[in-house]
Amino acid sequence: MIQEVLVLGGGSAGFLAAISIKRKIPQLKVLVVRSTAIGVIGVGESTTPNFPRHLFDYLGISRKRFYALAQPTWKLGIRFLWGSRGSFDYTFNFQLDSHYGDLKKPTGYYCDDDFNDASLPGALMRRDMAFPRQANGAPDIHPWHAFHIENKKFIEILEVIAKEEGVEVTDGKVTGSERGEQGIAAVHLEDGRRLTADLFIDASGFRSELLGKALEEPFVSFEKSLFCRKAVIGGWERAHDEPILPYTTAETMDAGWAWRIDHEHLINRGYVYCPDFISDDEAAVEFQRKNPKAKVEPRIVNFRSGYYERQWVGNVVAFGNAGGFVEPLESTAIMILCSHIQMLVDFLKHNDLEPTPTMRALYNEKTANTWDDIRQFLSLHYKFNGKLDTPFWRTAREQTDVSGIQDFIDFYQENGPTGFCRYRLPRSENDFGLEGFLVMMVGNQVPYQKRHQPTAEELQAWQRRKAEFAIEASRGIRSEEALAYVKHPGWQWNSDAQG
Ligand SMILES: Cc1cc2nc3c(=O)[nH]c(=O)nc-3n(C[C@H](O)[C@H](O)[C@H](O)COP(=O)(O)OP(=O)(O)OC[C@H]3O[C@@H](n4cnc5c(N)ncnc54)[C@H](O)[C@@H]3O)c2cc1C
Repeated sequence: MIQEVLVLGGGSAGFLAAISIKRKIPQLKVLVVRSTAIGVIGVGESTTPNFPRHLFDYLGISRKRFYALAQPTWKLGIRFLWGSRGSFDYTFNFQLDSHYGDLKKPTGYYCDDDFNDASLPGALMRRDMAFPRQANGAPDIHPWHAFHIENKKFIEILEVIAKEEGVEVTDGKVTGSERGEQGIAAVHLEDGRRLTADLFIDASGFRSELLGKALEEPFVSFEKSLFCRKAVIGGWERAHDEPILPYTTAETMDAGWAWRIDHEHLINRGYVYCPDFISDDEAAVEFQRKNPKAKVEPRIVNFRSGYYERQWVGNVVAFGNAGGFVEPLESTAIMILCSHIQMLVDFLKHNDLEPTPTMRALYNEKTANTWDDIRQFLSLHYKFNGKLDTPFWRTAREQTDVSGIQDFIDFYQENGPTGFCRYRLPRSENDFGLEGFLVMMVGNQVPYQKRHQPTAEELQAWQRRKAEFAIEASRGIRSEEALAYVKHPGWQWNSDAQG
């Protein structure tokens, strides 16, 4: 039976795993071993809505305390500077996978030319508003938001919470490991310590010390679908007159794309590119040209997209970059981290801490599916982005491997943005839902045959609906004002009051 857990790594994956395991299975002894000399990767600042849900609903962390310490900003979705229409917004609530009663067809059929104000979240994003406003002036904080959060600040806070939960934390560098019947028997530290455990969580980042290096689990590469493997990073301090944008921006660049993440006091940008089409120096020049205010970090971040075939081997489970990573276009790393942690906790509890081989196999099948869902989703982003005609984008359009999702593409190209498309997705319950896939197809104006010619009446109904969203959104509340509300000592979160 598992009694002791050793977590290797003190980044977001290691600490979030340690806190979650300890909180949900308190009888376990949990130790985090991490090397402050190696440090953390220091990127990973844009999230999806399952992240606040994990923190507040799953772990029960106080919102008031979290907002005070971590200083997150809100993210309603992603603004894509992308595709033939130049720009479109992907929100975390329904825009296109919806069907209004006064319209004949689902929403997507009315968005061929104009994708603006198709929903309230879309209308809010378009006006840089974070939330609708309540009658008393306060923000109506909806559940379909995620966070932008500074990586190092986040990890500092996680460490504090982990210790409060009873997780032990020690500084040390793992230099080797001993194999045992179950997988790993012990790890060896540079300072001479030998640490044993029943379950090892590998959260050592891209080094993947246990799963990748010690156990030599094969890596499944996504290089045929996702060509980018480097990033240049930079940012600047927010000026007074620069609004806090309540979304991540993904901007098409010559040989990849660039993110913009708005923190309260900082604006962070990064250019993700494919070195087969641009040198590091050229990428830095393009990045600087488009972001003249940015201080460009001298380091280049290297990564590869893919995952280790099995995430759970013997007594080793990997989380975070140690288990896999898919380039950051949809900010999926923390999303997948939270969902895999919850899955592991469920599996451990269900097995009374004595996991069976078939349960491990099921876990590996389910986690492999989540990695592949992301590959398929991101491959659409590259296949259909017609914004630029550079060698990189021509190659992306011609050569991106969309295997697994070709049925969906064929079905869409014949029938258009219908809800029936969900039956042509390999797994309709994936993290993005049909909504995400439709936004990519409609946003990029992928042609389809069965176009709908709305009547004048329908068009009127559609315009009326959009106008209503626009009016409500223009009365909305920006991030700056909403932050002032939630930071006020009198602000009360319902969930904290209940806790
Ligand atoms: C360019 C880029 C952009 C990204 N953007 C996003 C984003 O917007 N959103 C998102 O969700 N994710 C993003 N990610 C992924 C991001 O890296 C992860 O979300 C996350 O922050 C990484 O956490 P980690 O804990 O797995 O790794 P790390 O932060 O690297 O932590 C690894 C830990 O293991 C320790 N360690 C390693 N080896 C040893 C050893 N031998 N002995 C002791 N300790 C050791 C390290 O000291 C560290 O504490 C991005 C990644 C890249 C490359």
